[in-house]
This record gives sequence, structure tokens and C-alpha cells, in this order.
Amino acid sequence: MYAEVIVDIETEALDRPFTYRVPEALLEDCRPGCAVRIPFGREKSEREIEGYVTRLTEKTELDPAKIKEIRAVTAGTETAEGRLVALAAWMSRRYGSTMIRALKTVVPVRKSYGAVTEKTVYLTDAENAEATAAAYEKKRRIARARVVRALAGGPLDERTLKAEAKVPASVLRTLKEEGVIGITVTEIYRKVTAHAEEAAPDTLSEEQERVLSAVRGEWTHGEGRPVLLEGVTGSGKTVVYTELIADALAEGGQAIVLIPEIALTWQTVLRFVRRFGDKVSFLHSRLSGGERYDQMKAARAGDLSVMVGPRSALFTPFPNLKLIVIDEEHEETYRSETMPRYDARETAIERGRLEGARILFGSATPSIVSAYRAARGTYLGLALKTRFGGSCLPRAGIIDMREELKKGNRSILSDALREKIGERLRKKEQVMLFLNRRGYAGHISCRACGYVIKCPHCDVSLTRHRNGRLVCHYCGYETREVGTCPSCGSKQIGGMTIGTEQVEEIIGRTFPEARVMRMDLDTTRGKEGHSAILAAFSEGKADILVGTQMIVKGHDFPRVTLVGVLMADLSLSEADYRSAERTYQLIAQAAGRAGRGTLPGEAVIQTYQPEHYAVTAAAAQDYEAFYREEIAYRSILQYPPVSSMLAILGASENEAVLAEAMRYLRRYIDRIDPGGALMAIGPAPQTIRKIRDQSREVIYLRHADAEQLIRARALIEEYIALNSGFKDVQIQFDYS
Ligand code: ADP
Ligand code: ZN
Ligand code: ZN
Repeated sequence: MYAEVIVDIETEALDRPFTYRVPEALLEDCRPGCAVRIPFGREKSEREIEGYVTRLTEKTELDPAKIKEIRAVTAGTETAEGRLVALAAWMSRRYGSTMIRALKTVVPVRKSYGAVTEKTVYLTDAENAEATAAAYEKKRRIARARVVRALAGGPLDERTLKAEAKVPASVLRTLKEEGVIGITVTEIYRKVTAHAEEAAPDTLSEEQERVLSAVRGEWTHGEGRPVLLEGVTGSGKTVVYTELIADALAEGGQAIVLIPEIALTWQTVLRFVRRFGDKVSFLHSRLSGGERYDQMKAARAGDLSVMVGPRSALFTPFPNLKLIVIDEEHEETYRSETMPRYDARETAIERGRLEGARILFGSATPSIVSAYRAARGTYLGLALKTRFGGSCLPRAGIIDMREELKKGNRSILSDALREKIGERLRKKEQVMLFLNRRGYAGHISCRACGYVIKCPHCDVSLTRHRNGRLVCHYCGYETREVGTCPSCGSKQIGGMTIGTEQVEEIIGRTFPEARVMRMDLDTTRGKEGHSAILAAFSEGKADILVGTQMIVKGHDFPRVTLVGVLMADLSLSEADYRSAERTYQLIAQAAGRAGRGTLPGEAVIQTYQPEHYAVTAAAAQDYEAFYREEIAYRSILQYPPVSSMLAILGASENEAVLAEAMRYLRRYIDRIDPGGALMAIGPAPQTIRKIRDQSREVIYLRHADAEQLIRARALIEEYIALNSGFKDVQIQFDYS
């Protein structure tokens, strides 16, 4: 048996594992994540150092005669951190990043922060407090007497004491010198959650109970597979998560709950805090370095048991991790956009494998990848079909906008939706208008020649803001609005479709009595922007909330009885094999926001493609119907998850150099795969051809066997490293 060992995780120079033989006597103790003592260096300068085992294998390509042996496994060192190092090694192999980058992702805070302390002051001779105070009073040491009296009832923390006895720190110093008081210093963690009372668990509905016992069965005496829980919005997925977390804690273990950053509101976290109190903490992007450091320290020490957070919370160093829950598992934010470009869902499964933790995925609109795995039995698939408390799923109607045009209605609001909004306003109920902004909204184009105004640095159209500026949402470039077409000089230039600002404007004009709020990238930039708007709306401070896909997440709005989805099919026009999946998710999630309280809800879906299966299935909230159509389409075209795909993404400032390099790469791929079992497409421009002056191209490789793609990629990386034509080209790889 051989062990791959990573040494000295601080130095970039040693960015690869070294192979050692595991002696017979150590076989039992040597596991991934263990700290080991190993001989290191050439003969003359050989010394013994410490390393972490990242992987055990039975094979090696090295000369067995030259492989050294592990000297010792440091006892009791299979630490949380060590196992995370093993996870980083897996990530670096799987996603092709350097070990250092993977380690920085997994163990991000290496720097140590000073501890925050709390000082408690007590009387050394509490029994004679009264006599001591009286003696001070006699000597006219009134301040000292006040301190002694304040402490007569028991120890106090320093700050309270100073306030209560109204004395400065110098008095306490004197009293300490005189031996009258003592001070104990305890280290406390920077807390990020307020204290909340623990509440009793919910009583589960019959359906929830059934799902829960199926999960427990799978995990205690079944195969222990990851579970995919498909639960309609409002079915109580969180309630099921909570019970399973309680199981993990009862076993003396810990749990991680991943949720998309955008849904990470105090309201969400509070649901866990209510049940598990101070054992819960959460990570979010606004924590300071010290706060983050303390969260990790508390987790490692076992002082926390539940961590709620976005993607990066997956790496919480719990000593006995038992459960990882991934809520809204279909969200794209679970894929990292920076190196290593890891997928938190896959990485969670690997961490679970390394540490014996169970995995639960939940969503109302599961990703096709997860649903496919559930259908094939890799995961256990379970479903919650009804909303808790019997509130009905919203009725959803599809409005064909082509018919509106024929009637002569050129507005963005169909007659039906306008009437329904008016009705809700009269009844003092709330409305959400959801604008699908994926695709092409807010663009300025010439109606005479079709010219679209784009950012000069990025291949994206500029978006018109109400202040008249045209803005690039990728790089922030701004310019003045133009009156004539820069290409043909026509004055027929203007907005092709609309953005959230225009919807807000139109709604304001149509319903002057309504209070309208808007939520999009621009209004949520501020620190608390996103949750502040949602909180205000949920408190009834507006009648209508207009927004992009952001409004789909997080809060419950019991008074929202109507959801309008504008331009529902816009995202279908994206040049990506996942566009139908995204469209289904967006519409179904948006429609699911209506009628979550006691009032029945309704959704109106406006579209130009009323017969598309993504639209009809979303309107019916029928995930199975959507899945059947979608998987049939992907089978025919051999798209993931039916086959595996590797995108080779090239970027360069120099367009010609990029094009040349990518052409060479394609020719090389055809050479390493003469039989053509690898299906290669491209090079072709990426969906966005240029960002920040960098041109972008892509080659797609597909193969039924994911291993073949990993092999091809290793060859391609070698080719790129040796070939000077790639000097000014950045290549990234992306699996799906
Ligand atoms: P989901 O995450 O599936 O959309 P939630 O877990 O948010 O659903 O549940 C929807 C609402 O129903 C929440 O307000 C929740 O508190 C309530 N709820 C669900 N199940 C129960 C239960 N068993 N007992 C009490 N309330 C429940
Ligand atoms: Zn730009
Ligand atoms: Zn023109």
C-alpha cells in the first residue's frame, strides 16, 4: 500500500504530493487526513518532517525500490484539518487546480487573529464584603467601597461593574493590588448570532414523517446513499432538514447546511437558531476576518454543531461531521467561478465519503443532474408533494403575448394581468412582478439597421438606466445615451425590451395609487440592500415588488397572492444546453412565491412560447413532466448528464493569438483521439465573446465516460505547457 503525502502546506514550491510506502505495522492507522512523520530530502541532507496523507493507493508508477517508508503515524492526528487537506488533494485532481489554490479554498484562514476576552471580577473574601466596604468608607475611600458593595452579590463582568459602581479602571487596579478583588480572563468567540430561545420541534405532517423515516432507513440500515428531496415550495423541507440535523447532533456529530448566499437572510438562519440555539452559527460574506476565524476555531473545538452558510461553509472543520444539507441544490452558485472551479455538490459527496457524513440535497426544482442520478439509483429520490397546512399551490395561467399584440396591446402587461393587479390592490393584497432578465433585456438597438449598442470592452449590450446613462453590467463602463444610430444615423434607436426600472415606471403610471418597490442589482448594492428591501416588503410597506430573479429567494410573503412572470421565455434564447432547465426553475420558483399564507395564490405567466414544455410544466408545477421531456432531449443530443462534457475555455487580449491557439488545440485533440470517441465541437466564440477586453473561445469535449475526459485533459494540459503559442492565452477547464 502506498500513501500520497503532502508536506509543508505553507510553501508553494512543494505543490504536489509525494509517494511513500506504508509499512505493514502502520497499515491500520494510516488513513487520509492523518499526520505522518516522513524522511525527506536527498541522502546527505535527509531529515524527518511532518506531512499529511491525502490518499492511499495500491499502485504506483514510480520505481518501488526508490520509495521511502513512512516512519510513524502521529497518534490521534486524524484531525478535521488533516481530512480537509485530503479533500483539497481530491479537488486539485478533480478540477485541475494547483494544490496550493485548493488548500487556500479549503483552509482559508491560516492567519491567526487575537482572541477576544471577557474579564470577570470577584471579591477574594466575599464573606467579609460588608466589613471591607465599611472599612473603606471610614477611610473616605468611597469609590473602592462602592466596588466592594457592587460585588457583594457575586462576580460581575468588568464592563458591568465599571458602569454599576461608576468607577474608572484605575480603582479596579488599586483594589487588585490591595488583594481585595481578583480578575479572571476568559477567551470568548466573536459571536455572529444573537441569542435566541430554543423552541420545541414541530410536529411533522404525515407526508413529512414518511419522508423522514425513508431517509433514516436509507442511512441507518440501507446503502447510505445521498438523498435528493424534491419538495414543492412550502412543503416543509426545512422541517425535515431540522430533524435530520437533530439526529446528527444526538449521535455526537455536527452538521453543515449550505444555502445560496442570496437566500442567507437572518430569517432563514433564525429557523435553525430557534431549534438549536447557541450551537448554530452562520458564515456570510460580510463577516470580518476575526469573526470568520473564531467561527472556525469554535467549530474545530466542538463548541458549535451546526454551520449554516454559502458554498464556502462546506469547509467548516468539524471534528465529527455527520450531515451535509444542500438546500436549493439547483442553484448555480454552488459552482465556483474561480480556481479551483469546484462544484460544492460533488465536493460535498467527496467530503461525506472521506468523513462518513451523509448528504441531503433539497429543492423544489432539482437540477437535471441530481434528478438523473436519483432516477438511476445513485441517489435515493424522495418527494414532498403538498404544501404544509394544506394551502394550495398557486393556480397558474399562461398568457400568450402574441395574442395580446394581435389585439393591439403593445404594453408589457397583458389585459388579464393588469386586471388582476387592480383587483389585488383593491383587496389590499400584495403582488410580485418578476422580470426574467436572463437573455436580452434593457438593450438599446436601432430599429432601422438592427445595430445593438455594446460595451467597447465586453461583448455585452449596454443597459439603459433611468438617469439616461448606458451601463455595462460586467465592467461598469458608462456612457451617455445616444440620439442617433452610430452605424446608420437613423433616429429610430431605443429600448428593444425592458428592464426592471421601466417596469417600475410603467406600473407607477398604470396604478398611480400603488406603492411600488424595485429590487435588482442596482437597488441592492448597499450593505443590507437585499434583505432590507425584502423585509420592508414583507412588513407591508409596499403593494407591488418588481424585481429580477433575486425576488424569488428567501423570504415568505404571506400576503402575496399574485405573482406575474414577465417575459418568461426570454432565458430560452440563451445559447446553452441548460437554457430550458433554467427557464423551468425560474418560472416554477417565481410562481411558487404566491399564496404561501392562508390566502390562495395565483400566478400569471406571460410568454411568447406558450407551448414550450419548460413553460407548460412550470405553470403546472409538474417537475416530473419537465424532467421527462428534458432528459429525452439531452439523450438525443448526448448532453450531460447523459454523457459527460468538458469545456475548454480560452481567453486572451489578443484575438488572433487566441484563435490560432484554439485551432491548434483542436487539431491536437483530433490526434490524441483518432477513433473519434471523444466528441469535439469548436473552437467557437463563447456566449459572451469578450469581457474586459479579453476575447473568449471554447472547445467542448463530450464522452460517455467521465474518466476519459479527465485523461484527455491531462494530455491537453501537457500540450499547453510545452507549446509557446499558449503563452498569452489563459485556459480554464469546466466539467459538467
Ligand atoms: P420549503 O423549504 O419546502 O419551502 P418550509 O420548510 O419553509 O418549506 O415550510 C413552509 C412553511 O410551513 C414554514 O413557515 C414552516 O414553518 C411551516 N411548516 C412546515 N412544516 C411544518 C410543521 N410540521 N409544523 C409546523 N409548521 C410547519
Ligand atoms: Zn464592459
Ligand atoms: Zn442603425
